[in-house]
Amino acid sequence: MIRVTCLGGAGSVTGSNYLIESPSGKKVLVDCGLFQGGRQMETRNWADWGFIPSEINTLFLTHAHIDHSGRIPKLVKDGFRGKIITSPPTAELCEIMLLDSAHIQEMDAEWQTRKNRRQSKGEILPLYTTADAEESLKLFFPVERDRIIDVEPGVRARLRNAGHILGSSILELWVEAADGEVKVVFSGDLGKHNQLIVKDPHEIFAADYLFIESTYGNRLHRSFEDSKKELLDAIEYAVSNGEKVIIPAFAVERTQEILYVLGEFYRNGDLPEIPIYLDSPLAIKATQIFRKNKKYYDQEAMAIVNQGFDPFDMPTLRFTPNTKESIAINEAAGSAVIIAGNGMCTAGRIKHHLKHNLWRPGASIIMVGFQAMGTTGRKIVEGAKSVKIFRENVAVKARVYTIGGFSAHADQKDLLDWVYNFRESHPRVFVVHGESDSSEALADKIQKEFNLEVNIPGWKERLVLKPKELLREAASIGEEPVNILQISLNMIVDLEKELDRLKKRLKSKEEKVSEDDIDRLKYIQEELQAIHS
Ligand SMILES: [Zn+2]
Repeated sequence: MIRVTCLGGAGSVTGSNYLIESPSGKKVLVDCGLFQGGRQMETRNWADWGFIPSEINTLFLTHAHIDHSGRIPKLVKDGFRGKIITSPPTAELCEIMLLDSAHIQEMDAEWQTRKNRRQSKGEILPLYTTADAEESLKLFFPVERDRIIDVEPGVRARLRNAGHILGSSILELWVEAADGEVKVVFSGDLGKHNQLIVKDPHEIFAADYLFIESTYGNRLHRSFEDSKKELLDAIEYAVSNGEKVIIPAFAVERTQEILYVLGEFYRNGDLPEIPIYLDSPLAIKATQIFRKNKKYYDQEAMAIVNQGFDPFDMPTLRFTPNTKESIAINEAAGSAVIIAGNGMCTAGRIKHHLKHNLWRPGASIIMVGFQAMGTTGRKIVEGAKSVKIFRENVAVKARVYTIGGFSAHADQKDLLDWVYNFRESHPRVFVVHGESDSSEALADKIQKEFNLEVNIPGWKERLVLKPKELLREAASIGEEPVNILQISLNMIVDLEKELDRLKKRLKSKEEKVSEDDIDRLKYIQEELQAIHS
C-alpha cells in the first residue's frame, strides 16, 4: 500500500501539496504551492510541512502558477535538495515567477517591519528571500512530457499536457507496492476545451486512483465568442470617448490570451488604431517565454505563426518595462489599451492606472480574471461607487466590464468529459483543489454519471491506497460520519503537537519569542473554534 497525504490544495484552491509515501519508504511530492487569500490561510505557509524536506528526493511540479509552485523556495530553505521534475516551459516560467514571489515576500516583510517599529515591535523575516529562490532554481530538472521516467526505485512517472497554461502537466505516477503496482493520476489544473495557445488536455484512460481539480466544478463558462465580442465592445466604448481601456491582468497565460485575441482583432481589421501597452515587467518576461516555446502551441496558434505572424504582437503594441515609461502612459492624452498587473488590483502598476482612469466617465475597466473576496478588483466588480487606492477614495465612473470567458480552467462539462475516459479502468476518485460547493457538485456528478467511488479529502487527510482498493487509515467502521470524525481527530492531534512545541518554546528562556508565535497561537485558536462549532 502507498500513502497520500493532502497537505495543500485539499479543501481549498491554493497551497497545492501532496506527499506520496511508498512501502519501501520513498517519499515524493506533487506540487508545492503558496497558500493565498486571507491571513488565516496564509499562516499555513509558515506551518510545519508535515514531513522533513531533506528526506524528499523528488518533487513533481504540474505548472508554474504560484498556488502550485510558490513554496518551493521555502522547501529548499528548509532542507530540500532533491530534483524538481517538471516540463521545460514550467521551469522557464518558474524562474521569473519565483524570483518575483521572493521579491514580494521581501517587500511585505519590510513593510511589516517598518509598521512594527512604529509600535516598538520586532523585525519580520520574509517567508523566503531572493537568494532562496535562486537556490531552488538550481534544482529544476526539466523533462519532456509523454515519456515514462524512472524516478527512484519503485517509482515511475510521466507528465502529460494539461492544457491549462504553457507547460502545464498532468502527472501519471506508478508506485510499486507489496501487492502490486498502484497508478495514481494527478490532474493538476486542467484547461478548458479549445483554450487559446495551448493544446487540449491529454486524454488518459487508466488509473487506480485519480486526483482531480474542481476549481470550476459547479460552473459552466460562457461562450468564448461572446467574451471576445464583449472585449471589443469595451475597447470601442473607450475609444469613442477618447478615453483609456484598463485591463488588470495576471502575468502568465491570461495576459498572453488577451494579446492573442487583440492580435486576432488586428489581423481581422477590427482593432482601432490605438497604442496598446503591456505595462508589467513580469508579464513582458512571460510573453517572451511564450514566444520562445512555439513547439507547445496548439494548431490554431501554429497556423498564425505559419502565416508569418507572431500571435502575441500587433504594430501598436508597446512593452513598458521601466517605471519612467509606465508613468508616461498616463501623461499621454487620448485612447490606449493598458494591460497591467496585478490581476486583482491589490498591488503593482495597475493601481496607478486605476487612480488615473477609474473616475473618468467614458473609460473602460475590463476584468478578465477571478477577483477574490476583499480585493479592490472584487469591489469594482461588485459595483462599489468608490474604492480606496493609495489611501485616496477614487470614484468609479468608468464603465466596468466583467468578462468570464478568459478562464484557463476547465468548467464542469470539460472536467466530466475528461473523467469519462477513465470509466473502463474504474478508479477511485478524489476531488481536490476547489471550494466546497465546487468540489461537492463535481463529486456528485462523477459519482452519478460514471458510478465511480468519489471522496473529497480534507486538508492534512492521509489516504491509504492499495491496488484497486482504498482504506482510510483507522477508518474501519462505516463511511462519511467516521471520516469526518477521523479528520477532526487527526487535526486535534496535530494541534496538540503544535501547542506542545509552542509551550516548550515560550517556557524556555534561551529561545526568542516572536510575533509569529502569537500569530500561530491565534491560528490554533481559530482552528479549535472551527472544530468546536
Ligand atoms: Zn493554475
